[in-house]
Amino acid sequence: MNPWTRPRTKLRPQLIGTLLSGLLLAACAAPPETAPLPAPTAELSVNTLTPPTPTSTPAPAATQPGATTAPIEPTITAADETAATAPIGCTPGAALTPAQTEGPYYKADTPERASLIDADTPGTKLILSGYVLTTDCQPVAGAWLDFWQADDAGAYDNAGYSFRGHQEADAAGRYELTTVIPGLYPGRTRHIHVKVQAPGGPVLTTQLYFPDEAANARDGIFNPALIVALQSTPASDAATFNFVINTH
Ligand code: FE
Repeated sequence: MNPWTRPRTKLRPQLIGTLLSGLLLAACAAPPETAPLPAPTAELSVNTLTPPTPTSTPAPAATQPGATTAPIEPTITAADETAATAPIGCTPGAALTPAQTEGPYYKADTPERASLIDADTPGTKLILSGYVLTTDCQPVAGAWLDFWQADDAGAYDNAGYSFRGHQEADAAGRYELTTVIPGLYPGRTRHIHVKVQAPGGPVLTTQLYFPDEAANARDGIFNPALIVALQSTPASDAATFNFVINTH
């Protein structure tokens, strides 16, 4: 009877305490669990959103500068494609670049240089570039190219080495010559002379011509297969031509 009263009164506070602490624990545990759940969800979405946001923020930002870069990139891409298409555009079994007469003005032992002009050289600046390839469209690394041409006034330098120079194609078979558009001289259309040789291979002597030249049709040496692809800009002209040569 009464003996249970005390225990009861003692147990009750214990039970209450246990219950309270249980409730407290539950209360404490619940919020953290509940909190973390929304929190992570929120954080995840924030993080998920955040990264995209920054990523997409810079992305647009990059796109805008990129928009500035965009016009540049296509230009570069176009240039690269032009460069890349050159050899790629080559179909195995490609025709050899036709040989042409050397003419009377060749001089051996030209200086090694990729530019034949300086800042004061009269004439329209021309950058002539392209690849030296085999008939199987393989680059001829280290091919030797020796250029000579008339100056802007149509005169050859037979005393010195003006507008004469040789260079080697790079590992991709690419060459680039900086010069001016050669002038016309009596009896010939506009042209650039060149000798091309693979290491240890035979020398190809030929000439390059320009499109839309009235004198092309009147020149008995002219060969349309040797016309460069010409792109004129206000600053300079850019011409491309790929040589296909025998390597042995
Ligand atoms: Fe000539």
